[in-house]
Amino acid sequence: MAEPSVKINLSNPTEVARETLRRLAMRRISPTPDNYQTLYEEIVGVPSAPANTASAETALAGLVSDLQEHHPALSAQVASLNKAIGKSDWRQCSWQLSEIAVQLKPQPIRPQVDSGDRAQGENLAQLRELLAKTLEYGVVSQLSHNPRLVEKTQQLAVAVREADSAATLRNAASGLKSLWVSIELQASDAHNQQETLKRILLLLVENIGELLDDDTWLRGQLDMVQQVIAGPIRIQSLQEAEKRLKEVIYKQGMVKHGLREATATLKATMTTFVSRMSDAVAANDEYQGKIASHIERISNTEDVVELNRILEGLLEETRAAQTDSLRAHEQLIQERDAALQAEGRIKELETELAQMSTLVREDPLTRSLNRRGLDDEFAREASRADRYSAPFCIAVLDIDNFKALNDKRGHQTGDEALVHLVKIAKEELRLTDHIARMGGEEFLIILPNTPLAEAAQIITRLQRSLTKKYFLDNNDKVLITFSAGVAERIAGEPQEVAIGRADNAIYEAKHSGKNRVCLAPAAPAEAG
Ligand code: GH3
Ligand code: MG
Ligand code: MG
Repeated sequence: MAEPSVKINLSNPTEVARETLRRLAMRRISPTPDNYQTLYEEIVGVPSAPANTASAETALAGLVSDLQEHHPALSAQVASLNKAIGKSDWRQCSWQLSEIAVQLKPQPIRPQVDSGDRAQGENLAQLRELLAKTLEYGVVSQLSHNPRLVEKTQQLAVAVREADSAATLRNAASGLKSLWVSIELQASDAHNQQETLKRILLLLVENIGELLDDDTWLRGQLDMVQQVIAGPIRIQSLQEAEKRLKEVIYKQGMVKHGLREATATLKATMTTFVSRMSDAVAANDEYQGKIASHIERISNTEDVVELNRILEGLLEETRAAQTDSLRAHEQLIQERDAALQAEGRIKELETELAQMSTLVREDPLTRSLNRRGLDDEFAREASRADRYSAPFCIAVLDIDNFKALNDKRGHQTGDEALVHLVKIAKEELRLTDHIARMGGEEFLIILPNTPLAEAAQIITRLQRSLTKKYFLDNNDKVLITFSAGVAERIAGEPQEVAIGRADNAIYEAKHSGKNRVCLAPAAPAEAG
């Protein structure tokens, strides 16, 4: 703290003693002999040494005579002080000095007082003003968060400025004391708060760190933040920490967004893939069940890692069930890795996968068309028929008593029977006809450019040839028969409606004894 410099005659012990006392009062140091001696030596420029106790006593004696001369009102206290010095009773001496310090009040400046008194009075007024300003500008600015203390300090500044009597000075002094206590309490409070906040922040940063797997950039930023906070709190370091945290939050936001998109795309891709695959392997009931459970798991998760795991399991099962789609799987595995690396690649994967699955048009067991192939061909034939107004027919075939065949000869034999049926159908049908497996032991035959009666003949011919070209199971001749419903597609009729009519006809065929061909009415029964 800056003290107003006063010119002191160092050879005059009284002047030195008075200055010492003034500094004691200004610095709010309790006037013990030790403190008195330290300040005394500070003024005369003598280094501290035990030998100086004597000179401190001399100085105190000088102070006593000075006080006796200029402050007769304090004669009782001065006499006690003098006695205490004589007995080297420093405790008593300290107590008396503090009494005197409190009672010393500035002298009102009067024209008739001598120049020494006037100077002292001016010094004290100056000191009061300085103290008031210190309170108003220095202390208040440190207490901005505590309006109550600000008000108290401002009131004290006024009180100090106006303290021109012993009573008002005493008031101001006790006000100052209680202010120090409040400030000290509050400072330790603020310090505690700061420390707690710092700990919370560190904890937060540490936890964010744990959420980031191995993004080295983010980790680096967070380490910096941690370092910055761990040090002493300075405004620059806090600003630095804030800046870095903002960068982390921004980057994290981007990563999260990207991840969400990537996950969504991956999910969509997998779902498409799975459902197409399930079409392709419709023959395998067990596999179907697994596929369904995979689809369920995919739709229930948002986690890329989990999706990955599902995909892995899926591929494992698909590999076993679907040798023909091996190429597709491998491509998918490759694409999956790429997908996890870059979301842009996922889009490519989707497109490629879509193209790839259009290639899977065949039922792997029987080599007939699968549902997708059926859809494609039906659409092609329908548009051709609509364009040329040429009739075309469809026949739905369902093998008779196939369950019994399975039960009697085993699933493997059942499979072979299906292959046999398709083989014979391909031999019997025209090149322009198509046979598709709708599922299980049900097939659909498309007969382009064929009226209903002719279609019925073709299907009946197929039935007959099955009775000639036996299916052999371990040299056992096994007769395979089927029931069929034939329908002629009406111009503009949707696929499922036409198939529905053929299905109705097959129902009739089954119920009238199986192994026969029934025709659907030329127009829907309801329409007629
Ligand atoms: P219906 O004469 O009334 O048609 O009797 P069905 O036994 O042929 O008919 P159902 O629909 O009751 O049974 C069809 C059986 O076909 C049940 C199923 O186990 C079997 N199946 C379905 N898909 C396959 C396959 O890919 N391979 C084999 N071996 N059997 C299959
Ligand atoms: Mg059936
Ligand atoms: Mg059947």
